[in-house]
Parts: sequence; C-alpha cells; structure tokens
Amino acid sequence: MQTTTTNPIVPIPRLRDELDGTVIAPDDDGYDQARTVVAGWVDRHPAVIARVAGVADVSRVIALARETGAELAVRCGGHSGAGHGVSEGGIVLDLTDMKGLEIDADARTAWAEAGLTAGEVTTAAAAHGLAVGFGDTGSVGIGGITTGGGVGYLVRKFGLTIDDLLAAEIVTADGSVLQVDAETHPDLFWAIRGGGGNFGVVTRFKYRLHELVSFVGGMLVLPATADTVAGFIAAAEEAPEELSTIANIMPAPPMPFLPEEVHGQLVILGMLGFAGDAEAGERAIAPFRALATPLADMVKPIQYPEMYPPEEGEYRPLAVARTMFVDRIDRDIAAMIVERLEASDAAMRVAQLRVLGGAMARVPADATAFAHRGSRILANIAAFYEGPDDKVVRQAWVDDLVASLRQSDQGAYVNFLADEGEAAVRSAYPGPTWDRLASIKRRYDPTNLFRLNQNVPPAGA
Ligand SMILES: Cc1cc2nc3c(=O)[nH]c(=O)nc-3n(C[C@H](O)[C@H](O)[C@H](O)COP(=O)(O)OP(=O)(O)OC[C@H]3O[C@@H](n4cnc5c(N)ncnc54)[C@H](O)[C@@H]3O)c2cc1C
Repeated sequence: MQTTTTNPIVPIPRLRDELDGTVIAPDDDGYDQARTVVAGWVDRHPAVIARVAGVADVSRVIALARETGAELAVRCGGHSGAGHGVSEGGIVLDLTDMKGLEIDADARTAWAEAGLTAGEVTTAAAAHGLAVGFGDTGSVGIGGITTGGGVGYLVRKFGLTIDDLLAAEIVTADGSVLQVDAETHPDLFWAIRGGGGNFGVVTRFKYRLHELVSFVGGMLVLPATADTVAGFIAAAEEAPEELSTIANIMPAPPMPFLPEEVHGQLVILGMLGFAGDAEAGERAIAPFRALATPLADMVKPIQYPEMYPPEEGEYRPLAVARTMFVDRIDRDIAAMIVERLEASDAAMRVAQLRVLGGAMARVPADATAFAHRGSRILANIAAFYEGPDDKVVRQAWVDDLVASLRQSDQGAYVNFLADEGEAAVRSAYPGPTWDRLASIKRRYDPTNLFRLNQNVPPAGA
C-alpha cells in the first residue's frame, strides 16, 4: 500500500461526507490498484480518487477541484496514452462505477453512463441486434474514445463514434449540468465531438444504434513483405465500405495458433471486420487471403462483440508511440516500413495502418471537432522499451520512421497522441478547429480547470 502523506489541500473527510460514491485516499486499501492506468510508464500518486456514483457527485468533485486548485484528472477506461487518467498529487474523478445503460431497441438509441467500456456497450447493444462503433479494444472507456472521435471496426460503414452521438449530459467547470445536442448548447455539443475532455465531464452519452445482425471478422495473419503490405493497403482501399481493417505489421507474438517457427518473424497481424452477410464478407476478404498463404486465418462469421475478445491480466507495456496520417502506402513505402521493422531489435515494434474513408469521410470537416475527414490512412508507430537508455533508442527509431513516412497530411488523431505538447495538440485541431475550440473553452472553462488532457487553453489565456 502507498503511504505517502495526504495532500493537505484536498479535504478528504469533507469529500467522504459529501459523496455518495467511494473515496479512496493513499492509506486506503485498493489505492494502488485505483491509481493504475494502462500507460505502463505512469506511476502517479493522487491525493484522492473519487469514484463518483452519479451526476451530483461529479458536480461536487468539480467544485472541490475549483475551490482547492488541485489538479483534476478525469478517468473512464484509463487508456489515455498520455496517462491523463491520473494526477500526481491532485484529484482523480473516476467514473468507472457509473455503468447505467438504457437501450431503446425500437428507437435504436442508447443512453450510456460514462463509466462503461466499449466492450460493455457493444455486448449489451448486440443483444438487440444493434451496434455503435468504438475502437479495437473492449476495455477502452466510452468517455475517452467518444470525446476524442472513435475509430474502429465500423468506421467505414457507420463513421466515427461521434458520428453516432446524438446528445450528452455534461457537467461544466462551474458545476452546471447541461443537456447538449444539435439544438441545445450546439457549440458545446460540437466541441465534445472530438475536442476531448477540455469542456467538462460527460456523465451520459446518447448514441444512435445501427442494426447489425450479420458480421464477418477476425484475425488474418500474413507474412509481411513489401508486396503483402502494399497489397493489404490497396485491398483495404478498394474494399466495400462494409469492411474496415487494421494492419499491424510487427514480429509475430508467440500466439498458440501460430507455428513456433513463425514467432518473431515479421507478419501482418490483420484485423478485418465486415459489417454484412457471410457471402458478401467472404467476397470482400478474398483479396486479402490471396496476398500470400495465410499463417493463420480466423476470419469467419461471428457476433460483432467477438471482435473484443476477453482481455486477460494486466497489460501495461512500457512503450513509445507516435500517431500520424499518411496519404498512401505504395510498394516503396511498404518496403521501407518492412526494412525498418526488421532493423529494430525492440522486444515489440509495430507499424499499425488503418485505411479510412467511407462514412467517416462523408461528414463535413467542420461538422465536429474531428477535422480529419479527408485523411486516408491512420498510422501508429510504436516500440516497447526496457529502461531510460533504451527508451531514447526506441524513441529515435519511432521518430525516424515517422519522419520517413510523413507525406502531405500534417494532422493527428487526438486519441492516439502521447504527452507531446501543444504543437501535437494543434496538429489534432488544425486552424479554425483550434480557434473555435479555444473560444468555446473560454466560455465554458475560462480558468482551464480541465487541463490534464490534450489541452486547448481558453482563447486569450
Ligand atoms: C490498447 C488501446 C487500444 C486503443 N484502440 C483505439 C481504437 O481502436 N480506436 C480509437 O479511436 N482509439 C483507441 N485507443 C485510444 C483511446 O480511444 C484513447 O486513449 C481514449 O482517450 C481512452 O479513453 P479511456 O476512457 O479509456 O481513457 P482515460 O485515460 O480514462 O481518459 C482519457 C481522457 O479522456 C477524457 N475523458 C474520459 N472520460 C471522459 C468523460 N466522461 N468526459 C469528459 N472527458 C473524458 C479525459 O480527458 C481523460 O483524461 C486505444 C488506446 C489503447 C490504450
């Protein structure tokens, strides 16, 4: 158990009195577990963790942060790559006990409390033959992924998560509880669709759900060569919009279904998701299977939630990562990616490529705070490291590959940014998007109470 002294500026007894939820202080059981986030290099000791029970608790915790000046972290699924879900010495507003979910199957909508995960909402919606798209990992919180955008297995068919956000309930810096949608507080509704946690704490999201009764998906593992990588991307670009793909080019992990001699060899660990019937799915996936003899082929008709298999144990890698968009992956670029991955001896290194387009690209760039509607391919480059010296080496490798991949698209997807500073945040919010966010920030959070995030300071600050 952690035994550091309690930060004197946060009156914990008062919080215990006021909250309906659970208050976890440094000397309480469960403190270490409660302060743990997915980013393996983050080891912060907050003064207190407030596991809120409802919207009134959220207002109370925000009031305490306002009055004390303590740094406020907002935590949902804890997956922020920057470790923004936990504060050093401040207050963590932890939403994970808020798991109410109301599905209106006839209206095809769901009100979901902000402590739910992507997997939990997906499983519950699928019981009605319905779905809303999140990302590739079930344990990601709906709070973070929705407010940042949401790119997953349904992105080309139905768009980003925010494209199915119909309304939200949000507590702002002054403690007001606002219901926002396209007609009510439209500026705030615009800002929380891509602008992240800058504007308040969303307590409930209302999603549009889509009928999704047939789905074909799973993992296809191919040997990674210049031809297969370029071919995979070309096939993904030509595929019908029902198909969204993720190509992870990486050394094969020691997965039980892969022959032992393949472990450590460079492969495309492809994740394919086809939102449609089995026959059409087979047709859409055939070009990928034809690229090479698959090392493993687990793509088959499934229930959509099976795209989120159970996650076992604690996964907290020490990793450096960068995100970017690229315009094209031709054979030369694919060869360069393969060559760089082969040259590295990091325990794990990956170039992840996601072809975008489809429904996501049809939304006007200024309709939400996610402006990258024309971006073609989302690329994430990452490497594991083993200590401070190794970190420098791995970061240089990641930076070099990013520099070599850089084409015309200078943007970035906010949800994959690490702790990289204002220039990176600005690349997520180009030009007019930044200006509009900053002016909405000035209106709803003039003192930048919500600053432990990919921060957009209030205009004029
Ligand atoms: C293994 C892994 C896989 C991922 N895969 C994908 C993917 O496929 N697609 C994709 O789009 N993204 C993906 N991401 C990125 C993910 O969407 C972001 O890291 C997201 O911010 C995580 O949300 P969270 O609630 O789990 O994180 P947290 O760390 O709990 O929250 C992150 C930040 O989001 C904000 N936030 C959270 N909840 C609220 C709320 N209720 N109201 C206001 N602000 C809030 C806060 O600023 C908070 O600091 C992945 C991340 C990981 C680690």
